[in-house]
Amino acid sequence: MIKSVVSKEYMDLQKEIVKLQEQWKLQLDPETIRPKLDKAAMEAGVPAAALTAIDFEISLFLQWIEEVNTTLLKFNPELAEKLARITSLLNEETAIRWIDEAFSFNHVYFTSFAVEHGLEEWIPQFLAETALRPYLQLTAEKIQPVINRAVPGAGCPVCGEPVRLATLADEGKKVIHCPRCQANWHAKRLECSHCGSEDHKTIQFLTIEGDAISQIQVCEECKGYIKIIDTRQYITKPSAALLDLNSIHLDFVAQENGYNAVGEKKETN
Ligand SMILES: [Zn+2]
Ligand SMILES: [Zn+2]
Repeated sequence: MIKSVVSKEYMDLQKEIVKLQEQWKLQLDPETIRPKLDKAAMEAGVPAAALTAIDFEISLFLQWIEEVNTTLLKFNPELAEKLARITSLLNEETAIRWIDEAFSFNHVYFTSFAVEHGLEEWIPQFLAETALRPYLQLTAEKIQPVINRAVPGAGCPVCGEPVRLATLADEGKKVIHCPRCQANWHAKRLECSHCGSEDHKTIQFLTIEGDAISQIQVCEECKGYIKIIDTRQYITKPSAALLDLNSIHLDFVAQENGYNAVGEKKETN
């Protein structure tokens, strides 16, 4: 069983960050998040967070980035000099830009920011994304009551994150969870979340030796996959973020077998 594919330090760091995000979310005033639910847009796959007015408190965002820096330093003391440089670069204007770009997954922006300032490529986006999540999670909490389905291929109906995690609930019903904003919704058992295929001949389930509660659902049409964890036996259900982390070995197996977390676009005609 391939469980030890990432270091214990990495997992500990991620778990500490999940804990921080839970605390940060409590510091937010729910009134600062005002969804404007547009049924037609949502049915077309527009993430609800993009239709939500959010009053970001920039000083809080900057403070959270500092807290992530402190946590990162604990696990990676060699980053001290670079993280200090980020602190000196981050002013209000940059913070607003970071929020916007993290919101829209602008990997190109963050990579060029890192290159421009001589930072490791992953650091700026990681910091921005980490500090953005409490806002997305609170948005998801507000919108959750009206979320029951997702448009295949459009990702999470709240934040747009590509789908990669599901659990089996009562009677074996498949519930998709977003590890980014923690929204959840139902999906058909035999449906590819990436391309919408329901063809039982091309949708398969891979199992992992020694891991009786997990499966990887793969689709031969778009080469996409999602992880399915049977959490019915769990007394307390872990958060989607933790489930996602604890099942990272499944991502490795899926990707080693040629499947992707984002399905390929189907050729039409
Ligand atoms: Zn989401
Ligand atoms: Zn598919």
